[in-house]
Amino acid sequence: MPAAPGGPRLLLRRLREAMAEPVSAQARLDRIVTLIAANVIAEVCSVYVLRDDNILELFATEGLNREAVHLTRMRSDEGLVGLIAKTAEPLSLSDAQSHPAFSYRPETGEEVYHAFLGVPLLRAGNTLGVLVVQNRTYRVYSEEEIEALQTTAMVLSEMIASGEMQALAPGTGSAVRRPVSQRGVALADGIGLGHVVLHEPRIVVKTLIAENVEREVERLEWAIGEVRSAIDDLVERGDGIGTGESREVLETVRMFAHDKGWLRRMREAVHSGLTAEAAVERVQSDNRARMMRQSDPYLRDRLHDLDDLANRLLRTLIGHEAVGAVGALPENAILVARSMGPAALLDYDRTTLRGVVLEEGGPTSHIAIVARALGIPAVGEIANATALCDSGDAIIVDGASGEIQVRPGPEIEAAYAEMVRVRARRQEQYRALRDLPAVTRDGVAIGLQLNAGLLIDLAHLHDSGADGIGLFRTELQFMVAQRMPSAAEQQALYEAVFAATGDRPVTIRTLDIGGDKILPYMPALEEENPALGWRAIRIGLDRPALLRVQLRALLRAAGGRPLKIMFPMVATVDEFVRARAIVDREKAHLRRHGHPLPSECRLGVMVEVPSLLFEIDEIAREADFLSVGSNDLMQFLFAVDRENRRVANRFDPLSVPALRAFRSIAQRATAAGCPVTICGEIGGRPLEAMALIGIGFRHLSMSPAAIGPVKAMVLGLDAGAVTALIDAELDAGGGGASLRPRLAAFAKAQGVPI
Ligand code: PEP
Ligand code: MG
Repeated sequence: MPAAPGGPRLLLRRLREAMAEPVSAQARLDRIVTLIAANVIAEVCSVYVLRDDNILELFATEGLNREAVHLTRMRSDEGLVGLIAKTAEPLSLSDAQSHPAFSYRPETGEEVYHAFLGVPLLRAGNTLGVLVVQNRTYRVYSEEEIEALQTTAMVLSEMIASGEMQALAPGTGSAVRRPVSQRGVALADGIGLGHVVLHEPRIVVKTLIAENVEREVERLEWAIGEVRSAIDDLVERGDGIGTGESREVLETVRMFAHDKGWLRRMREAVHSGLTAEAAVERVQSDNRARMMRQSDPYLRDRLHDLDDLANRLLRTLIGHEAVGAVGALPENAILVARSMGPAALLDYDRTTLRGVVLEEGGPTSHIAIVARALGIPAVGEIANATALCDSGDAIIVDGASGEIQVRPGPEIEAAYAEMVRVRARRQEQYRALRDLPAVTRDGVAIGLQLNAGLLIDLAHLHDSGADGIGLFRTELQFMVAQRMPSAAEQQALYEAVFAATGDRPVTIRTLDIGGDKILPYMPALEEENPALGWRAIRIGLDRPALLRVQLRALLRAAGGRPLKIMFPMVATVDEFVRARAIVDREKAHLRRHGHPLPSECRLGVMVEVPSLLFEIDEIAREADFLSVGSNDLMQFLFAVDRENRRVANRFDPLSVPALRAFRSIAQRATAAGCPVTICGEIGGRPLEAMALIGIGFRHLSMSPAAIGPVKAMVLGLDAGAVTALIDAELDAGGGGASLRPRLAAFAKAQGVPI
């Protein structure tokens, strides 16, 4: 291997001088390629920049024909340069021309060169271009040379990202500025237009090239030591759990903090002349590029852990730069985060927050629940969202389709702005219905109630025009808290709920934890099938202390007013009878101590475990009311995991078996004189709600945003006609087919808005 005169350190020093010279961008770039070629002893050094239109353009060369500069252009997936841009990995070949991807460009005169080494120009994992060196001989580039070229590439990446290249060819700014459209999953409905605010602002490395290499080596070692001991502390204390970092994650991060390969690469980068922070960023950028191309979720998570660790190192080295007051946001802010806890979201100023974009977060994640309660459009599972956009970028969040548009073009922006106007008009129409009673055209009164769980939900009680709260999910208070809410805190929440609902009915559900509803401060159980595991009423009956505290808080909060409590995940009548006995004991306890008891205490059961369908007459006799939890009932009836996107939409709740199950519950409960409500998600979808009314439900409980559309449907519906249609279909023996198309056609023909 030919010894490089002075090695990468000298090259970086020279590059720093070149960067400081007051010359044009082209002159600077020409100087840089000459310096690199001389330093690595290559006959050729060329820079290709990825343009906005996805074309790679030769921007500067030493060794190839100069006339080819700004003339040689190729598609971003063409030739060896395209291959490097696509894979974001270095490519080293002793004979480039024998590589199948080689694409010959006569204008460059490159036919005489054989050895080829190209590295991507990366920034935050995005490819901005490609840096290539070539030699006439069939030589093999060493690992050190490849590393050195990657380090050098960083300087060029910064030059491109700074916008300096814009002057060289119009429209050829940095490729990361292109509009990007990406689809994830819809978490909270609504459309938000605004500008990116990174939840964890990216740490900007300003000084790339070291003045004093030895000092930078010391700084890096110091920072590694600091970060390691901070993580050791966290693991040992077993905390960090409250901040959403589980022990398992911390253990993995700790393992990476000792990863020899990772540390070696950062140390080499510092030794080659980068500052400590630039060395971390250089290795982090490669890692991010790999993360973006990694489809295996497990490996992607590990790369994320490594990314976190790099961020910790950067924060240690640069310090946490304050980003304004905590929670303060600019106008029309769209928060972009890898992940975020519900408490963090609640800390932001909601008056200017227009949307949330997450790299993680499924539809049932806590943050999704809170975003829905706040009415903030949110989208999850956007891979690399935090690398795709920069602070201040224009962005649109479509919480209906699960799409985001980063730096949208004017047409896209106009289309979304129009969509927002249409939605606002529709909301106006729903508001006009607010005070009308929900009665069908043929005179059937339908009770429309809210599903709620947080204090912020209660505001919707007034503006939606709901009759009351049909399902208050008490576990949400537990899920958004950093620690177990005390008895007093529970009581205070229930008092606030009763104060807000006034005379309107409210049904409080006891803690439905376990399964997917994990409390961050409680030890997680390793269960093979958590949805079928130790959860909800099962925990309540086996370890009644928690349930007793909650029941007491409820009974006290209710004071002299009526109280409705229901129990989740009841599988047998016996479980309900035992839960009722606990309530009776608590009532007796309060009575003994002279506390006022509720004027009336009605106890209900969630019908969400299919076994109860075969004891429905008995449970309808025992319980004061029933409420169908269709989310879980569908999950267990069809054996489809409600969290698993691959199967979650496999079966239709409007199919014959599902509708027969719902009909049998409604008919049998009604026959037994037991009031029955449906409180799963389906009650909030107009077409489904229409079918539910058709099979006999008269009370539906739903999310606040659904009240308007469902009420509009009710007002246009002839309940008798839909009953006749569904009964005929269900009694005819439909073979499992969905009635959805028939019902949609019926609604259309009858002019029912769905
Ligand atoms: C249900 O299962 O339908 C329900 C309403 O409860 P949750 O979604 O909270 O499980
Ligand atoms: Mg449920």
